[in-house]
Amino acid sequence: MSNAALDQLRHVFGYDAFRGEQAAIVDHVAAGGDALVLMPTGGGKSLCYQLPALLREGTTIVVSPLIALMQDQVEALKQLGVRAAFLNSTQDAGEAATIERQLLEGGLDLLYVAPERLLAPRFLSLLERARIALFAIDEAHCVSQWGHDFRREYRELTLLHERWPQVPRIALTATADAPTRREIVERLALEDARQFVSSFDRPNIRYAVVAKHDARRQLLAFLDGHRGDSGIVYCLSRRKVEAIAEHLASRGITALPYHAGLDATVRAANQRRFLREDGVVMVATIAFGMGIDKPDVRFVAHLDLPKSPEGYYQETGRAGRDGEAADAWLAYGLGDAVLLQKMIEDSDAGEDRKRLERRKLDALIGYCESTGCRRQTLLAYFGEAHPGACGNCDNCLSPPVTVDGTVVAQKALSCVYRSGQRFGAAHLTDILRGADTAKVRQFGHDALSTYGVGGDLDARQWRSVFRQLVAAGLLEVDIEGHGALRLTAASAAVLRGGRTLSLRVDPAAPAPPRRERGR
Ligand code: ADP
Ligand code: ZN
Repeated sequence: MSNAALDQLRHVFGYDAFRGEQAAIVDHVAAGGDALVLMPTGGGKSLCYQLPALLREGTTIVVSPLIALMQDQVEALKQLGVRAAFLNSTQDAGEAATIERQLLEGGLDLLYVAPERLLAPRFLSLLERARIALFAIDEAHCVSQWGHDFRREYRELTLLHERWPQVPRIALTATADAPTRREIVERLALEDARQFVSSFDRPNIRYAVVAKHDARRQLLAFLDGHRGDSGIVYCLSRRKVEAIAEHLASRGITALPYHAGLDATVRAANQRRFLREDGVVMVATIAFGMGIDKPDVRFVAHLDLPKSPEGYYQETGRAGRDGEAADAWLAYGLGDAVLLQKMIEDSDAGEDRKRLERRKLDALIGYCESTGCRRQTLLAYFGEAHPGACGNCDNCLSPPVTVDGTVVAQKALSCVYRSGQRFGAAHLTDILRGADTAKVRQFGHDALSTYGVGGDLDARQWRSVFRQLVAAGLLEVDIEGHGALRLTAASAAVLRGGRTLSLRVDPAAPAPPRRERGR
């Protein structure tokens, strides 16, 4: 490591040492090499271009899609005495002209620009007249059309390499999966760049998944362990965000709503309170979080299933950026999976895209139903092996009890079959438990051979069995049929007794004692 870099690290940034791969990256880029940096959120990506910016002659141009983030970073850099500025649509012509002049005079170490601004012909010709030290492309996964943050302009950034082949480039992202990585390399012409891949493990985050049965009560119980902490509660819909925020507030919790449908001033005010005050719980849709750098978020709770492991990882990654213990808690039910599947089918995406989204959703359902270490499951999805069980997730801390569930599965599958593959988990549970409901009588389901054969499990436990069977691919949800469960090609082997199955036992609900039926 060069002395100059260490010197700047200590005297400008005030850090004692580099973290993880930072030293190697700074060395490589400062010496003029191209780099692709994959580092989890909170890993310290910014320093990887900010420090080379100070070591190299000229101005480093930082491409960033997030205007709010740009402003925060520039503010922070200025406080450290670094000559930084940004150009974006929030400025008037006078301000912009001043910054452009500074650029040409060599008075800037870093200039942050939005991609559309950078690509404007007028700005490109301005760059021709400036001295450029480095191009830093932040949030590089925005080039990927499969990702959730696709930005068309990112596709045109190869132009930088074509026009300034001698200027090094560093692309950075926290999105780890291999297809996205390949797409970044290809789309940004980074074939010759050195790749720096950090571990995506966040050892201080404790992962837990609970079966959702009374979401509000379960959330309150979880929050009980986090009194006075800052945290985020994610919900799928705007309406639910508002309802949950109100509910928490009525219980004396400082909870604020955040979603794209709120007035911009309300949104900004809520975000500001979350960032500045202690102990604010932000109840939000996924519109909240990108670029939020609050180190002491102690928990991220999900009341609805996210769409993919990437989304889940990114959202939970906002917890514990300070390295202190934090919780990632997810309440999940079969209904969530059904709803998300329906959203995929109803969208006007192409068949390829739908297939990809289905696969991601299935991976996340698999994570929820996993009886092994959650961290291992999550990291494996990103192509990373975790040595041994982590000891810091629900399954490691209290290993789920699994039993031979073959007979239970046979009862469930044959109940699906005999009732015509037209009903959802709730009614199937009623049949298995021998419930006397209007619907059971209407369809004559009390005459089925599976009627009442499942009285040894309570309703919650049957729900869990159905979820696990869906996750194991032994049942599928019929979206057209309003969430009816159907057999799959794999079900037959279990039904015929040719395949055994291990199932997790969820604890019985602390319900009133069951009445003995007519004896
Ligand atoms: P990312 O962009 O990867 O999410 P940041 O660049 O915002 O991460 O850095 C995350 C946090 O880590 C910031 O608060 C930053 O100040 C801090 N940080 C980065 N590098 C170091 C270091 N070498 N030593 C101590 N703190 C660091
Ligand atoms: Zn674990």
